[in-house]
Amino acid sequence: MSQSRKLLNDCFLHDKDRLRHDDVLTLIQKRIGTIVASETVPLAAANGRILAEPVVAPRNVPLSDNAAVDGYAFRHADFDDVGGWFEVADRIAAGHARTTPMPNQTAARIFTGAAMPSGVDTIAMQEDCEPHIQHDRPYVAIPPGLKPGANCRKSGEDVLEGTTVLVPGERLRPQDMAAIASLGIAQVVVFEKLKVALISTGDELLRPALGTLPQPGQVFDSNSFMLKGLLATVPVDVTDFGVLADDAELIRDTLSKAAADFDIILTSGGASRGDEDHVIAALDELGQRHLWQLAIKPGRPMTMGQIGDCIFVGLPGNPVAAFVCFLLYVRQIILRLQGSAWRLPVRFAVSANFGIDKKKPDRREFLRGILGQTETGALGVKKFDRDGSGLITGLREADGLIEIAETATSLQPGEMVNFIPFSEFGLTPR
Ligand code: AMP
Ligand code: MG
Repeated sequence: MSQSRKLLNDCFLHDKDRLRHDDVLTLIQKRIGTIVASETVPLAAANGRILAEPVVAPRNVPLSDNAAVDGYAFRHADFDDVGGWFEVADRIAAGHARTTPMPNQTAARIFTGAAMPSGVDTIAMQEDCEPHIQHDRPYVAIPPGLKPGANCRKSGEDVLEGTTVLVPGERLRPQDMAAIASLGIAQVVVFEKLKVALISTGDELLRPALGTLPQPGQVFDSNSFMLKGLLATVPVDVTDFGVLADDAELIRDTLSKAAADFDIILTSGGASRGDEDHVIAALDELGQRHLWQLAIKPGRPMTMGQIGDCIFVGLPGNPVAAFVCFLLYVRQIILRLQGSAWRLPVRFAVSANFGIDKKKPDRREFLRGILGQTETGALGVKKFDRDGSGLITGLREADGLIEIAETATSLQPGEMVNFIPFSEFGLTPR
């Protein structure tokens, strides 16, 4: 079992005025390493976890040569190209291997998944065969045209003994679970779940509850529900600290306590430098702030910092900005902290069903993209047409993010644009 490692105390420090999107990702990739220890878990509990030790095949899969169909197994050398007659000398079902060789010139009735006995190497499908009884003994007529080894699965054709099937850093998916189980491996070593403290801040915020009616000026705390859902796409344990009022002392005390017990603190709201924004001041007092001025939109300053060995991420309060910053950066940070291999979301080139007259150069824009068809029936994407970063509706209608490069200053309808489906960030499609 490995010990957890400490964070570099300047891991988010950088020397750029305005970080470009790619710089941010490079910083995350280069400066953030695994901080959690590893643990052994039963395979049944490993789906979605990040592997900490390789999985090496202790045996072949399949273990034995076996039947791919229901039929008759025979020795190809006993067969001539015009077909053949065989006495049916055994019946072999899956899970009931025959341990002695089949006599020459005989066939075995065999069923899918049954181990091939020695002495036979080829199977004719039952639909193509004519069984019959002669002198009280079963025979089968096998048609011509079968190649040696037909309808047999070879031992090791899926995985050969000694193969490294999975390497540390891989996130276990259902198909990986199948692969590990097929090897007969009952437990795996994975990285521990990251402990996340989730905090909403704002005097105006109210948690939805039965019978709760908002007073004028109150806003329901939607971010914490959204962020909890987003955090469910990575293997973490989340503790919900609820809503904190805009109160300097309360925020400082809460951050200080959380930093002692958690690997990462994720706040939303209060992260600007207004009079009522106390989160930054608290961070400055307790630890280090490496404020990130990002050359992206949306993504007003997202704040990164550390309080001792705890990472601090301050997300903007506006739901759209919080959502996009989480997908683009927080998710990568969290995966990195718990040993995940580096993987960028895949971008698909899709035809733009919209245009942009004028875009500020030198910043990358991420628009909420809705998939549809172009006039010619190809895949197209349009942007959600209202801009407000408080509009949760746009997040709901979108299928992913449209990425407009720093260098672009306009976009013509029909041009190809980069589109990143939300599924690339681990979200389930609607
Ligand atoms: P702030 O970052 O605190 O200046 O907040 C920016 C905007 O986001 C304000 O309109 C807030 O009311 C809103 N906001 C902040 N936190 C939340 C939250 N947890 N849920 C929904 N809206 C929020
Ligand atoms: Mg606020």
